[in-house]
Amino acid sequence: MNTMTRKLATIREIEEIKPIPEADKICAYRVGGWWVVDTINKYDVNDLAIYCEVDSWIPHELAPFLSKGQEPREYNGVKGERLRTVRLRGQLSQGLLLPSTILNELGLWPLVGDPVDHNLTNQLNIQKWEPPIPSQLQGTMRGNFPHFIPKTDQERCQNLRKDIFDTHKDDVYEVTTKLDGSSMTVYVKDGEVHVCSRNIDLIETEGNTFWNTAREQNIIDTLLELSVEKGEEYAIQGELIGEGIQGNPEKLTGHKFYLFDIYSITVGRYLKADERYSILDTLNMNGASIEHVPIVEQGLRVAQAYDSIDELLEFAEGPSLNPQTKREGLVFKSWESDFSFKAISNSYLLKTKF
Ligand code: AMP
Ligand code: MN
Repeated sequence: MNTMTRKLATIREIEEIKPIPEADKICAYRVGGWWVVDTINKYDVNDLAIYCEVDSWIPHELAPFLSKGQEPREYNGVKGERLRTVRLRGQLSQGLLLPSTILNELGLWPLVGDPVDHNLTNQLNIQKWEPPIPSQLQGTMRGNFPHFIPKTDQERCQNLRKDIFDTHKDDVYEVTTKLDGSSMTVYVKDGEVHVCSRNIDLIETEGNTFWNTAREQNIIDTLLELSVEKGEEYAIQGELIGEGIQGNPEKLTGHKFYLFDIYSITVGRYLKADERYSILDTLNMNGASIEHVPIVEQGLRVAQAYDSIDELLEFAEGPSLNPQTKREGLVFKSWESDFSFKAISNSYLLKTKF
């Protein structure tokens, strides 16, 4: 999934309403796979409302009550607040519902075409909140992230109910542990190896953790050698984890890159799981020391094993790479197509400090 297409705020139908035990002023509304706690009787089933996902940065004017009477915070020059996962009277609440009437007030109504799923992210000036980048990861820019390689991203399962249980109901998946670090890409182009963070191509500088780790695990030379040997240019993508990154939940000493994807730049596609394992073996036989993210299940028929998004989210709970650590969640990749998604552990979201 590309960040450009990311829908953080969309018009949705309220699909289900459930009471919260011993709460008479609030209830839970369901849109897709998300539950949002709000005032009772505010919406009816089938009503249209604007749904904003967790990690949206909401401009203050849109929802001043989020600042709870305090001075709003600021992100990329916009005053507002970040939407987090919370528990209210024991009920999980993720994201924000806004009445569709505000579109009138903002002069955005009527919309052209079907309002359901209409993406309002840009019109409402909503951004995706990203954690601050530690200085050891910032580095010096060599260029933009290359346009010929997809950026790593995964859509949340809560937005893909129909796709998972209908369109892809017969799909078989590889399920891996989602590691909470920083996205890293190493690729070969025209006989040169590049190292990228999530958004930029980096110059090799002293003290840059992406480059240092790539050298330590001998990724640079082995990837170059492989592309010469195969006559094909590859990008390997994974998660850099360790000290100073996202609070180092795995309690690692130093840093380590864990691979989760290989993209053939020459052919313009992601390798299938078995092709990926075989390329990884070759790199390691040639002297690299690269581990794959942990594989939790291989060949899982998700739509048969689980009946709902809530059940999938239960499955996302569990130990991480470090068995003492709760995992951030799971990533599901279909064997049949490029379809993939993430299921984030709700208990992880509730406890994480970021
Ligand atoms: P998020 O961290 O919520 O933005 O989710 C997407 C990111 O998860 C990707 O950009 C990757 O950097 C990261 N990630 C961590 N573990 C995995 C994994 N096992 N498979 C795919 N992506 C992963
Ligand atoms: Mn992440």
